Amino acid sequence: MNTPEQKAQLLKIGRQAEVAVPLPGGAEAPPVHGVRLASLIEVPPEGSPAARLWIVGEAPGETEVRQGRPFTGMAGGVLDGMLQEAGIARRECRIDNIVRFRPHLNKFGEFYRKDGTAKPLLEWSIKRLQDLIEKHRPHMILALGWEPLRLLAAETLTDGIKMWRGSVIHGPAGKLMGTFHPSYLLRQWADRPVAVADIRKAKTESFTPGLVRKVRKNTVNWGFNATRDALRDMLEHASFVSFDIETDTKAEITSIALADAPEFAVVVPIAFRGRRHWTSEEERILKGFVKQILESQKIQKIAQNAQYDMIWLKAKWGVEVAPLFMDTLVAHNLLVPECPKSLAFQCSIYTDIPYYKFQSRTDDPDTYFRYNAQDAMATFECAQEIQAALEEDKLWDFYCKLPHALLAPLRELSLRGVRIDLALRNEMTRELEEERKTLTAAIREDATIREFEEKYLGARQQEKAAEKCKVAWEKSKEKCEKAGKWPKSAISVKYPKVEDYVAVKTEKQPEVAFNPDSPQQVAAYLYTFRKFKAQLKRRADGTRTITADSAAIKKINTKLQEPLLQALLDHADVTKQLEFLNAKLEPDERMHCTYDITGTETGRISSKKYVTDTGANLQNQPAGKKKESTLRRIFIPDEGKVFLQRDLKQAEAWIVAFLSEDPFFMDAIRSSDIHRRTASLIFRKPECEVTKRERDLAKRCVHALNYGMGYVKFAEQLGISIVEARDLRNRYFAAFPKLQVWHSETKLKLAKTRRLTTPFGRVREFSAGWNEDLWKAAWAYIPQSTVGDLLNTGFLEFWRWLKVDGNEERFDCQVMLQIHDSLVVQCPEEHVPVIAKKLKECLERPITVNGHIFTIPTDCAVGPNWLDLKERKDLE
Ligand code: URA
Repeated sequence: MNTPEQKAQLLKIGRQAEVAVPLPGGAEAPPVHGVRLASLIEVPPEGSPAARLWIVGEAPGETEVRQGRPFTGMAGGVLDGMLQEAGIARRECRIDNIVRFRPHLNKFGEFYRKDGTAKPLLEWSIKRLQDLIEKHRPHMILALGWEPLRLLAAETLTDGIKMWRGSVIHGPAGKLMGTFHPSYLLRQWADRPVAVADIRKAKTESFTPGLVRKVRKNTVNWGFNATRDALRDMLEHASFVSFDIETDTKAEITSIALADAPEFAVVVPIAFRGRRHWTSEEERILKGFVKQILESQKIQKIAQNAQYDMIWLKAKWGVEVAPLFMDTLVAHNLLVPECPKSLAFQCSIYTDIPYYKFQSRTDDPDTYFRYNAQDAMATFECAQEIQAALEEDKLWDFYCKLPHALLAPLRELSLRGVRIDLALRNEMTRELEEERKTLTAAIREDATIREFEEKYLGARQQEKAAEKCKVAWEKSKEKCEKAGKWPKSAISVKYPKVEDYVAVKTEKQPEVAFNPDSPQQVAAYLYTFRKFKAQLKRRADGTRTITADSAAIKKINTKLQEPLLQALLDHADVTKQLEFLNAKLEPDERMHCTYDITGTETGRISSKKYVTDTGANLQNQPAGKKKESTLRRIFIPDEGKVFLQRDLKQAEAWIVAFLSEDPFFMDAIRSSDIHRRTASLIFRKPECEVTKRERDLAKRCVHALNYGMGYVKFAEQLGISIVEARDLRNRYFAAFPKLQVWHSETKLKLAKTRRLTTPFGRVREFSAGWNEDLWKAAWAYIPQSTVGDLLNTGFLEFWRWLKVDGNEERFDCQVMLQIHDSLVVQCPEEHVPVIAKKLKECLERPITVNGHIFTIPTDCAVGPNWLDLKERKDLE
């Protein structure tokens, strides 16, 4: 640790001009002036320079400086663990850092100037490292984190370490590959297995010098005859073809590539930026061949995210792709549900293709079409590896039977969409808009909001902002004039005059009136003006950021119960509802969505916007103040039909009961009303005396506590005190004692293998950090996954009954929606009894959990729209 005097001295050096001080004998001392350093002690590299594998970090931390060795602190511990797991001895490697000094606050940004250019110390350090690399020529350099990777790469890299990790590229004198920095892994432990895989790859690469890649060919620039002949050849000889389309914002397919081997793809460019590639006759002929290949029963097809490409091909070119052999996205997700779901990620694991996805943003047509070809070839290569891995894990059969088989019915649902009651939609929109206006007015009436407007959004603030802009502009103008060039921002906004620039900048200032839709203004009001404790949200990279979303306001308002905060919440709710209602419809005036088989780690299907960016997530609708969303009313069946919904009743609770084998819970789930029974056990009174509120509380216990919700959050959700919540939780676990035993057993299992297997045979490896979030995910995993698979197995059986046995026409029945544990179908009223019976047969199938065989019962409801469904006991 530095003394205060030393610290002051270091900061003083950091503020002085950036200079290089020559040392006696001509060598240069590290130019440490102008950089705020935490220490002037250099941490030397470790290991022999003759090592084949060099590992390069950013800069040392406190422990490293104290010990005089790189990577000896927490990050070092993580690195050592990973090296060991990858079968590498630390002493076999050379370990160094880009800069060997510890920066102030451990911030690598300290080595850059404000304009983003490197300070002399960084330049000097890179040069020294590059010279060393040049001299010793290690076979492989493993860069830990984005900074070392991009600083050592021979080419300019964009897009960050998440994209580039695992790609072997050219470094200063040989091969270079990046992976996650161990400090990042401390925040995002779930990415550790990927880093270990990268280190293994680095080890293999370190055995040989030079960079050797498979040679791949494509037909970009082959001309019409050659392209046609290549397609004809593929049609005649190929047994497996992977395909990939590119689309543009004008809803057009701009290119398609087909690969019949990992090294060869035929590309059929269609258009680039509106410019067509062929004459219309040539295009027609080539499209004809593509159609024949994609529809040929002799050729098995492969695609990454096949749903997307197949829906486009059907909707735009009328192509019915069949047979589909594999969707690499779905198959890979089954193999490793926690890993990123992208072709780029698969390439980094299974191929030697370096990251290339940035090419899709190109302005050059050739690069664009070549990129398309690369996608098709990469898909082919990954498919082979994924199939082998699934077979090795004994998951291939399950893949074929369930996730893969679901693609066709789910695609059909997406393509069909759901009819919308347009008149009702307009009326509801009008009502909600009125409500929003009233809420906005009420919010703006509030005295504190007015004060906030005055202080933060008033004219004085705008003047200040304008003044600031003007000063900044003058400064940058001066700098540019000195440098003889204009900044990019000035050119791109095309406002060369100061007045215009200032005007534009000030126009962007917030409105004078408070805007409840602006997250920045709401955050400024809550945290800067009202000084509430800032609420944080976890970002994807593990860091936390301040948020002022509904959950944050709700949390702040739990104790306060302020009408203004409630109004802000209501306003946010109404905005969400309006967004949903006004989601764009397809030209058929129906709302479509895409079902995502890889949407969750449990295998439960999620839904999102349609492939053309219209529609919305149809499995969840914003509910607003009421418990159930009234928005469901706008969804109606086709002319002359009714909706019929069948759900698995209390499905997850059934699974939990038999997983935990709690005799009281198993009894309760088999009783006629599980919540009443639970309430009677919790509140220790006969079922007939249980009040509605008590039943309600018991219901909330089942949903929250089975998966380990803490009592603070439980209190927040129920709007009760923490003491009450704790009491309720204790009573719940006293009533069902084996639930907590099941929690502990699951934790033990996880600690041993980090793996859980569901009754359907799905396996998930839990890689995240060992904490409550991980355990909660583990407790929820088997129940949620099993219910999803149970419903989908029934769905498939019903769909086959409709399609294969010709019952679709016979009963004029179609499946309309899949909503986690229920299905909605439509059919004429007179066929309701037959359809309801068949659905019951398909969904109520025996299931085995822990050796107990049981059947989860279903509910049935029928109605004229998706909201007003009446329970039909006669059909249960
Ligand atoms: N982080 C680094 O980048 N290097 C070290 O030596 C230690 C932590």
